[in-house]
Amino acid sequence: MTRPTSTNFFLDNDDLRFQLSRVDWATLVSLQEAAFADEDGFKDPAEARAFYEDVLSNLGEFVAREIAAHEHELDTQHPELKDGEVVPPPRMKKILDQMQALGALSLTLPRRLGGSNVPILVQNVLVELVTRADASVAAEFGFYSGIGQALLFYSMEEGSVEIKDGVPVKTRFDDVVRRIAEHQEWGAMVLTEPGAGSDLGQIKAKAVLSPDGSWRVTGQKIFITAGHGDHHIVIARSEEEGTHPGLKGLSLFYVPRFVDAQGQRCKKSDPGAKRNFDIGGVEHKMGQHSAVAATINYEDSRAELLGQRGHGFLGMLMLMNNARISVGFEGIGTCETAYRMARAYAEERVTMGKPIARHEMIADELDEMEVVIRGLRAITFEAAFHEEVSARLKLMSKVKPEATEEAKKETEKKVRRHKRKARALTPLIKYWAGEECVRMARMCMQIMGGVGYITETGAEKILRDALVIPVYEGTSQIQALMALKDNLQAAIRNPTRFLSELATARLETLSARAELEKGEARLRHHAMSAMQTIITRIAADKLGDVRGRPLAEWKSAFMKDWDPQKDFSFGLLHAERLTKLLTWSAVAETLVRQANEVKGTADYEERAALALRFIERFEPRARGVVAEIEATGGSLIGRVLARPRRERAAAKAAE
Ligand SMILES: Cc1cc2nc3c(=O)[nH]c(=O)nc-3n(C[C@H](O)[C@H](O)[C@H](O)COP(=O)(O)OP(=O)(O)OC[C@H]3O[C@@H](n4cnc5c(N)ncnc54)[C@H](O)[C@@H]3O)c2cc1C
Repeated sequence: MTRPTSTNFFLDNDDLRFQLSRVDWATLVSLQEAAFADEDGFKDPAEARAFYEDVLSNLGEFVAREIAAHEHELDTQHPELKDGEVVPPPRMKKILDQMQALGALSLTLPRRLGGSNVPILVQNVLVELVTRADASVAAEFGFYSGIGQALLFYSMEEGSVEIKDGVPVKTRFDDVVRRIAEHQEWGAMVLTEPGAGSDLGQIKAKAVLSPDGSWRVTGQKIFITAGHGDHHIVIARSEEEGTHPGLKGLSLFYVPRFVDAQGQRCKKSDPGAKRNFDIGGVEHKMGQHSAVAATINYEDSRAELLGQRGHGFLGMLMLMNNARISVGFEGIGTCETAYRMARAYAEERVTMGKPIARHEMIADELDEMEVVIRGLRAITFEAAFHEEVSARLKLMSKVKPEATEEAKKETEKKVRRHKRKARALTPLIKYWAGEECVRMARMCMQIMGGVGYITETGAEKILRDALVIPVYEGTSQIQALMALKDNLQAAIRNPTRFLSELATARLETLSARAELEKGEARLRHHAMSAMQTIITRIAADKLGDVRGRPLAEWKSAFMKDWDPQKDFSFGLLHAERLTKLLTWSAVAETLVRQANEVKGTADYEERAALALRFIERFEPRARGVVAEIEATGGSLIGRVLARPRRERAAAKAAE
């Protein structure tokens, strides 16, 4: 492998440490430490932050020494299924044992259950570091504390938690979480079926309530990462399809791998423990070779309902939002490793009298890689912060309700504000991280020429490992659909606000005095004018010529005889393009804001230059994307929509 050497993946990354320094620790730590009520906890945010940085520094060294150094082994060893159990690759097992000993698998779990009570954001930084070393380790280790954390959240959300002095002291999953923290147990997030991946409304796995009051799940799930774990969070159909079609009929369940003679969850080593479900197979994959992707067969498997019956999709969304942000960090780690390998090679390799890093085209590519990674990291930190704060604020308000109605309203407002920001950014980061890490891995290979194509150098491993990142946890297209839906809905619900924001953006492209603000406004304006084009076109397709009608009247017209399959066609066609524009605008906004926040410090010049480099690269690209949206798609939509009509007519004629 030709990876440049580093002794510490945390300390060698100034940009990562800059982003950590920008986090609002006072807010996050106060929530994490339940307003510093825990006697064994930190006394103030500074103490907590110093601890987090120590943890990351120690693990940054471990990752460089014990994971990156063994990436070839991790790539060449595969999990196997023997006698119904998965035998993990030896190197993966060794690394996870070492991580367990260092407390890295229980970082976010509460102290009282054997964890370190560290924010999810810190764990996500570790995801970036680990992915930089090897993506298969990153894919699996999140299913330790991630699943324990989710079970605790579900317990608090549904109210099955004992509270003392405003601090949770017991939940229904304490035994499971303690086992995850203390022993080497982990879980899995189980959604996908042979006929249901992006379209979860097609889920067929059935959950039945037995006369004795217990739930049983039956069905097959596929591609389950870490599916050989003992603690599954499974989505299954609990309601009749006739009365509760699609997503409405789904519920969420905890399904243990082992149950005792009474059907209660237990440990594998307990007397009378028997398997509650079977592992049907382990996939051979293109990349991330050491990670397990398993087929799981549930057959009358004992299950415990999580949250409310019929609300399974909403419950799963909570887990998915966090998982998508985590995959965003995987994407950054992948970009970072590709960039560092490409840069090191380009600085060494000489052609036509100078290192290729100094040839214009290669210099351009290396600059592009650096700017993208830093922009991506900036918005991913934002999304992670807002998601965690909104979730913790919401849970805290359940555990320790506000004393007055006014305070309650204030907290609810804060939850909504953080949630809105997280919801806006999450599909953008999952989309962009997935797409960019593949592009960066490909650029790395190209910069390395023939050497990049040779297995031994490790560049092609980065690409193989990267290619699944735009697929799992919701494909890039599904992220684009979410971004489109939320943005369209907001604009249609409140057209006056949309138009006023559009006008402001336009005005600021002309009036802003500073170059940075002007550039940021341009990117924002491009995203909003693309939205306007999409809305106008959707409305025109539906309502005829809308140019003369005020936008405020569209809302009611839109809602009349609405056919989402047909009426949104133009928006659906351009969802990815719009997502790019929204992402680039969000990156510009974040980088410019961060630069302004450090005005007057030693960081300012460099951060302002970074923001400008991003704008210079992406503003012209955004113009091109807007032009594509304005000019293309009409004839394709005609053909796509004509086909089902033709097919329906042919079927009718055949009858
Ligand atoms: C290595 C690996 C690990 C995984 N781990 C897990 C796991 O731990 N748990 C789990 O539950 N699942 C897991 N998955 C499954 C993964 O989440 C799904 O593969 C993914 O969601 C896509 O579903 P699908 O494969 O059924 O593709 P499909 O849904 O069939 O999609 C095929 C293609 O069509 C596109 N598409 C679908 N619908 C639309 C639309 N409306 N508009 C435009 N394009 C569309 C998709 O973007 C995609 O490009 C894993 C998969 C892999 C490969």
